[in-house]
Amino acid sequence: MASIIIIPVDIRDPSILLKIAPHIERTFHREVSLGPSILIPPSSYDPMRDQYHSTAILRSLIPLKKGWGRVLGVTDVDLYVPGLNFVFGEADVINGVALISLKRLREGFYGLPEREDLFLERAVKEAVHELGHTYGLAHCPDPGCVMHFSNSLRDTDIKGKGFCPLCERKLRSSI
Ligand SMILES: [Zn+2]
Ligand SMILES: [Zn+2]
Repeated sequence: MASIIIIPVDIRDPSILLKIAPHIERTFHREVSLGPSILIPPSSYDPMRDQYHSTAILRSLIPLKKGWGRVLGVTDVDLYVPGLNFVFGEADVINGVALISLKRLREGFYGLPEREDLFLERAVKEAVHELGHTYGLAHCPDPGCVMHFSNSLRDTDIKGKGFCPLCERKLRSSI
């Protein structure tokens, strides 16, 4: 069973990754390792938007996959894809790599006092969601399912950290 590697992408405090890892291990029944940090490809930065092109960073994760089953990049910077104001994360289903941004998961981003518990919960949900895509899961209409699409942080807070029975069954049949 191929394991999952988490790659810190230019991240200030990688301690959050040690907290996310056990949740991912339990959810996907895969060993999770923490890889060495990488730098953000400078070409992914769009100075007009002051954001980073998510797909460009995702692409830079592909060569790191090697023998790993899945790669999850975690970054602090704000991500976008053309046509959307921002994205919480993105997955490359074909190559089995995923990326999430922590930027908009902190209460501080919205001018509110930080809440570490809520921050961790959001990070776990986004990580499980994007990795879920790499295991073949699509967006789920159930608002409580982790595979529900998050348009806003409110959607993220409403959904759970786990899969609905239907997505759970699909996941089990694909891994
Ligand atoms: Zn999604
Ligand atoms: Zn579901």
